[in-house]
Amino acid sequence: MRVLVTGGAGYIGSTAVAELLARGYEVSVLDDCSSGHEDAVPSGATFIHGSLLDPASVQRAIAGCQGVIHFAAKSLVGESVLKPELYHEVNVGGTRILLSEMRKAGITKLVFSSTAATYGEPEAIPITEDSSTNPTSPYGSTKLEVDRMITEAAKSGIAAISLRYFNVAGALQSEGGWLAERHDPETHLIPNLLRASVESPLNIFGDDWPTQDGTCIRDYIHVVDLIDAHIAALEKLEMSKHLIINLGSGSGYSVMEVIRAASKVLGREIPSKITARRAGDPAILIADISKAKTILGWSPLRSIEQMVSDTWESQNAANRS
Ligand code: UDP
Repeated sequence: MRVLVTGGAGYIGSTAVAELLARGYEVSVLDDCSSGHEDAVPSGATFIHGSLLDPASVQRAIAGCQGVIHFAAKSLVGESVLKPELYHEVNVGGTRILLSEMRKAGITKLVFSSTAATYGEPEAIPITEDSSTNPTSPYGSTKLEVDRMITEAAKSGIAAISLRYFNVAGALQSEGGWLAERHDPETHLIPNLLRASVESPLNIFGDDWPTQDGTCIRDYIHVVDLIDAHIAALEKLEMSKHLIINLGSGSGYSVMEVIRAASKVLGREIPSKITARRAGDPAILIADISKAKTILGWSPLRSIEQMVSDTWESQNAANRS
């Protein structure tokens, strides 16, 4: 089976490409490299440098494929607040073009990269797929709009699964080397704490949250576990059905607990200081992952320590090259 991976030059997309190739799939990648890196695309894949907004590029990339894993998107929450039209155009408009080209080409299998940001501030913890959706950013709104668009598309014959990610971390060491998270600017906790130094300590965004140690709690999932779930989803697609499934570890770690885990892995203190809360951060986000376990027959296997240590190794490898 040949799979089109949109956004396959990005951190999560390139990891998916490597894992698909390792399992014997053929892979085509469509990416405009606006935030991804062409050198991250594993060498066994066919790479099409083009935009999701260009139907001709999508047509070229989709030719010969039987399924699509759709990662390509604008994904910075802060930027989405400043540029909501851009997020709408790329995330919603781009998916509309993709769905239309899939229909023309007779391709019916779709796995979509959705997000926990579709839920917004949770009413209850853990968050199930039936929780209400009140996104607090244009990023979350556009992903929710795409989820709804896919539900409509499924009624006329597409088989789809939307996977709602919680906090993705870690890295894959593939045959071609480490596939590191290379965001600029980097906003995520684990890469940031690994870069912290005495001169430039990690900013802990608030220690006055209603949690045990006062810092925010998140549900971290290793990128390799996340991709294993995508491949399981691809293999479980059912015609005319659109399923929505959370992907996390099902447990929460506070910022302080992540820092302690990182100190243990690195064998040194992580310099940090408490700063103001970051706007838009909910106090606690933890996924209910029972649906993923039941439907996909999947369970996350990798610990927070492994996420830290793989991120560390991949960053060192990226710095050396
Ligand atoms: N965080 C922090 N310092 C940083 C980056 C993140 O204290 O430099 C906190 C943030 O407030 C949140 C958690 O770490 O509680 C995870 O943030 P991240 O940006 O990694 O992911 P998000 O939950 O925003 O998707």
